[in-house]
Amino acid sequence: MAIIGAGPAGLLLSHLLHLHGIANVLLESRSREYCEGRVRAGVLEQGTVDILDEAGVAERLHREGLRHTGFEMHFRGQRHRIALDELTGGKSIVVYGQQEVVKDLIARRLADQGDVRFDARDVKLSGVETETPIVRFSHGAQQVELSCDYAVGCDGFHGICRGEFPAHVLKTYDRIYPFAWLGILAEAPPAQHELIYAHHERGFALFSMRSPKITRLYVQCDPSDTPADWSDDRVWSELAIRLGTGEGWRPTEGPIIQKSVTPMRSFVAAPMRHQRLFLAGDAAHIVPPTGAKGMNLAVSDIIVLSRAFEMFYGRGETRGLERYSDIALRRVWKGERFSWHMTSMLHTFPEHDSFHEQMQLAELDYYTGSRAGRTTLAENYVGLPIESI
Ligand SMILES: Cc1cc2nc3c(=O)[nH]c(=O)nc-3n(C[C@H](O)[C@H](O)[C@H](O)COP(=O)(O)OP(=O)(O)OC[C@H]3O[C@@H](n4cnc5c(N)ncnc54)[C@H](O)[C@@H]3O)c2cc1C
Repeated sequence: MAIIGAGPAGLLLSHLLHLHGIANVLLESRSREYCEGRVRAGVLEQGTVDILDEAGVAERLHREGLRHTGFEMHFRGQRHRIALDELTGGKSIVVYGQQEVVKDLIARRLADQGDVRFDARDVKLSGVETETPIVRFSHGAQQVELSCDYAVGCDGFHGICRGEFPAHVLKTYDRIYPFAWLGILAEAPPAQHELIYAHHERGFALFSMRSPKITRLYVQCDPSDTPADWSDDRVWSELAIRLGTGEGWRPTEGPIIQKSVTPMRSFVAAPMRHQRLFLAGDAAHIVPPTGAKGMNLAVSDIIVLSRAFEMFYGRGETRGLERYSDIALRRVWKGERFSWHMTSMLHTFPEHDSFHEQMQLAELDYYTGSRAGRTTLAENYVGLPIESI
């Protein structure tokens, strides 16, 4: 099998297939250092932790990851805790950077002598409607041609694989939000243990962390903003206003070691299979980061897809491969819904009037004030079940 893209989706698929004796080659256009240094998601659902555990790649995650049994919603200057464990029968999330998951998976693939080709240039796919799709790429001075049974596009939103679906086969659903997130990493011990999602008239803010020494913070900004528009002083004062409780609480300040602007988009491409080409993760769908679902959806796609391939190579059954797209998409749409809902409830929208503002506050009151509301938030946040194939 050929897997294109060594993000969390491609690496995990490569590892799970290897555990079941299914030979695969993983192609990545970037260097190993680049993949290991790319700071992105950081909240792992319970199911994501469980699968990394079962796959034998969670040793460092358990040592260094921060287990959280709750998070807070903040509006009208007050905090409201969502007790994940109490509301979901003991489930929780773990804060552990996506780049750390990537490092652990790369180390394991290389220790297992997996065929991972970093710096693969000009990757091109053909023949996905035939019995033997072909992948061509350059590697160092070599021009390489691989034929495979199946190809899996784990090459993210800007990858090449989705483009191999004929236009009449693929339907896309897209929403671009009229704001972005300015994110910072600061060398400062987190001022509190749990995440805070804040709704404020000046815009959304998120308090989170990556380790006991590093705080990760975000503020809603204009999509045309660049990091240069946000001086360190401006970032800290905006965070203090949006996250402040009136009792003097504010995030601990420290040197800002990374600053970036993330656009906000919801996108789904369906189906996730065309003949002998499958898509997984961001190659097929992206979510605004408000629900912390991006990487978790990539992992749940891979769980379903790897089981389908185990059934096919182990027992010759094609049922799993046939059902992959439908099963994965059902969970993807629920993740899309939750991410869209959290985004809609927590951000300020330029087109909103005072009526919309009151609707948002009423929703926040309901979702934090009623046990049913809190349970809905909690069960989505820790991750909905993954359907068996
Ligand atoms: C800036 C940013 C911030 C984010 N923050 C959050 C967050 O806070 N919380 C959250 O839950 N999610 C977040 N996400 C989303 C989350 O990181 C993704 O959902 C996750 O990375 C999906 O994993 P993936 O393996 O499907 O794709 P990716 O991680 O995008 O991996 C795709 C891989 O394919 C490679 N590739 C691309 N094209 C080719 C090609 N032609 N040939 C070979 N290789 C190729 C890429 O180099 C990359 O390594 C963020 C995403 C971005 C972009």
